[in-house]
Amino acid sequence: MPTYTFRCKKCGEEYTVFTSYSKIDEVRCPKCNSKEKERVYRKISFSVQGGSSSSSCGGSCGGCSGCS
Ligand SMILES: [Zn+2]
Repeated sequence: MPTYTFRCKKCGEEYTVFTSYSKIDEVRCPKCNSKEKERVYRKISFSVQGGSSSSSCGGSCGGCSGCS
C-alpha cells in the first residue's frame, strides 16, 4: 500500500499513513482526530556523490572530483 503524508490543518501535526487512495478522506489526525488535512509531498532527495557532478561542492571541500 502506498504511504501518504499529511499535515493536520487544525493542530499542525504531520503524520504518515498507509492507506489506499480511495480512503484518504477517512484518514484522521492521530492527535486531534480532525479530518482537515493537507497532503504533504516529500521530495525524494538522492545524494549525488562519487564524481558524477563536478560542481557538487563549488570547489571548497578539496575532496570531491570538482576539487582535484
Ligand atoms: Zn490534528
